[in-house]
Amino acid sequence: MSKETFTFQTEVSRLLDIVASSLYSNREIFLRELISNASDACDKLRHQALTSPSLIEGDHDFKVALSVDKEAKTITVSDNGIGMNHDDLLATLGTIASSGTGAFIEQMSKDDKKDSGLIGQFGVGFYSAFMVCDKVEVTARKAGEQEGWLWVSDGKGEFSIEKGSRDERGTTVVLYLKKDAEEFLEPSRITHIVKMYSDHIGFPVTLAGQGDGEDGKEGKEETLNAASAIWTRSPQEVDAEQYKEFYHHTAHAFDEPWITLHNRIEGVVSYTNLLFIPSVRPFDLFDPDRKSHVKLFVNRVFITEQADGLLPPYLRFLRGVVDSEDLSLNISREMLQTDPKLNKIRNGLVKKVLGALKKKADNDAEAYAQFWDNFGIVLKEGLVDDYPMRDKLLELTRFKSTAETMTSLAGYVERMKEGQEAIYYITGEDEAQLASSPHLEGFKAKGIEVLLLIDPVDEFWMQHITDFDGKALKSITRGEANLDAIKTEDDDNAKDDKAEDAPQLDLLIAAIKLELGESVKDVRPSKRLTESPVCLIADDGDMDVNMERLLRRHGQMTNGMPRVLELNPSHAIVKKLAERAGDDAEDALLKDAAHLLLDQARIAEGEAPTDAAAFAKRLASVMERAL
Ligand code: ADP
Ligand code: MG
Repeated sequence: MSKETFTFQTEVSRLLDIVASSLYSNREIFLRELISNASDACDKLRHQALTSPSLIEGDHDFKVALSVDKEAKTITVSDNGIGMNHDDLLATLGTIASSGTGAFIEQMSKDDKKDSGLIGQFGVGFYSAFMVCDKVEVTARKAGEQEGWLWVSDGKGEFSIEKGSRDERGTTVVLYLKKDAEEFLEPSRITHIVKMYSDHIGFPVTLAGQGDGEDGKEGKEETLNAASAIWTRSPQEVDAEQYKEFYHHTAHAFDEPWITLHNRIEGVVSYTNLLFIPSVRPFDLFDPDRKSHVKLFVNRVFITEQADGLLPPYLRFLRGVVDSEDLSLNISREMLQTDPKLNKIRNGLVKKVLGALKKKADNDAEAYAQFWDNFGIVLKEGLVDDYPMRDKLLELTRFKSTAETMTSLAGYVERMKEGQEAIYYITGEDEAQLASSPHLEGFKAKGIEVLLLIDPVDEFWMQHITDFDGKALKSITRGEANLDAIKTEDDDNAKDDKAEDAPQLDLLIAAIKLELGESVKDVRPSKRLTESPVCLIADDGDMDVNMERLLRRHGQMTNGMPRVLELNPSHAIVKKLAERAGDDAEDALLKDAAHLLLDQARIAEGEAPTDAAAFAKRLASVMERAL
C-alpha cells in the first residue's frame, strides 16, 4: 500500500487551529498527554494478554521510554503497549475520542482567543503535541501483527499513513519541536515535567542518557517516576497534588477532585479503592445507559472500566480505581455481574461513599450544597434502586422549600409547627410556578413550610417513600388538607372571623356537581385556599397531579382521572354564587360559572382548559353580563 493522505475530522481541525494559535502558557502538558496514552496502551495489552498470552511475546517489562535528540530537535515517546495498525491509526488519530472534548469543541465560539485559555481544562489529548511541534510522526505496530505503520502530520488539516517499520510491538511518537519550544529538549525540564504530572503512572517512565557519542558512551538511562501504581502506596505517602494528577489521568478530567477516598480494606475480600467525586458534572452524567466509570484492577492489572456490578448506577459520578487481589484475573464481564465477591466490594464501597458524603453534609453545608447541585439528581435514583440504603440516602437528600433554598428532611422536621404531623410537599416542573400555586395559599398564610420538588425523578421515589422520622410525607395536591390543628402565632384572631363568614355551600356544591358531572370526582369546600377561588386536587389514593402530567406527556396515559374541585368559602365569587344557588335550577350564569371555575383551576396549574372554544364562549358571555 502506498502513502495515503486524509483530512482530519472537522472538530479535530478546529481543535488543532486553536491549539496551534493558542498562547497557552501550560504547553508542557503535551508530555503528560503522550505518557498517559502510552500507559493506557500498556494497560490495554496487559489486559488482552490475560486471554492471549502470546501477544506479549516474552516482553513483559512494560515501559514508557523518552529520549531527546538535541541536534534534530526532537523528543521521542516510545512504549511497548498494544500499538496500532493502519485502521487504528486512521480511526483514532484523526478523530476525537473523548465525547467531552467533542462537545466542548462544538460549543466553542468562533472567538479563538477567548476560548484558548479554556483548553487546559479539557482533554486535548494527543493533539496537544501540536502546541510544541511543527510535525509529529507516529510509528506503530500492533501486538500480534507483523506490519508497522507510519502516521505523519504537521497538524494543518491533513495527515498521511504509509507502511513503516518497527521491530517490536508498540508505539513511537517523534515530536519535531517548534523553534520556540526548544526549551523542552533540556533533560532537567523533562524530568521536572514527568515528576510533576506523571509520577503516578504504574509503569516506569525512563529518559535515555545524554551520551556525547564521542567515546561511544551513551549516558545511563534513568527512571523518572515512582513507577508504582499510586493506589498501592499508603495515603500518607501521597499528596493532594499527586492525587489530582492521577485523577486527571484516570478520569480524563480536568477539574479538582471534590472528595478523594483512598482506603485499603482487609477482610474476606480485600481491596483498595482510590475514588474521586468530581467538582463539576462530567459530560455524560445523563447518558441513558448510566454507565459506571470506575476502573477495576485485579492485582494491579487493569480489567475493565465497565464492571457493572462494582458500583450502583446512582453513584456513576464517581471516578477512580478499585483493585482487589481476591478476584480472578480471568474473570469475564458477564461473570463479574454475579460474582459474590464483587458484591461484597460493592456494598463496602457504597457505605464508604455515603459515609463520606454524610460527613461533608454535616461539616460543610456550603460545599455539600455544591455537590448536591451537581449530583443530587443522580444520587436520588438510589432512593428507588437501593432499598437497603434508603434511609442513609434520605438523610443526604436536599430540597428546596418555601422557607429555605436548601433543606434536609431533618431540618424541615425541626421547623415543623406545633400540631403539624406531616411533612408537606408539592411536585411540579417549574419552581416559579410551584411557588405561586393556589394549593400553597393556606400553608403560606399559616407559615407552614412546604417542600418544592421539581426533578422528574422526585415523583418516582416519592411513591416508594411514605414517611421520614415517623412523619408522613404528604402531597398538598392530593387528599384533604386540614390545617386547623396546626397552631400558629396569629391563629386565634384569624380563625373566628372566618368561621362567622363561611357561607353555606351545600346548594352551590350540589349545583356544580350536577353541571360538571363526570368531569370532577367531587366538589368540596377547601381549607387550603386563601386567595384563589378554586383549585383541583387528586383524591386520596389517586395518582398525584404532577405524576399524571408526566405520564400524559410521555404518552403513557391519555385521559387524566377526574379530580376533586375545591372551593374557597371565603372568596367573593364563591360567596356570591352560594347566594344564587338554589334559587333557580336553570340559572345559566351558575352553569357557566361551574365550567369556568373548573377551567380556572386548570389554568392556575399551567394546564389548558378542557375545551378552549367553550371556555372562550362562556367567558365572553359572563363578561357581557357583568358589564
Ligand atoms: P484519549 O487518550 O482520551 O483516548 P487521545 O487524543 O489522547 O485521547 O488519544 C486518542 C486515541 O489514540 C487513544 O484513545 C488511543 O486509541 C490512540 N493512541 C494514542 N496514543 C497511543 C499509544 N501510544 N498507543 C496506542 N494507542 C494510542
Ligand atoms: Mg490520551
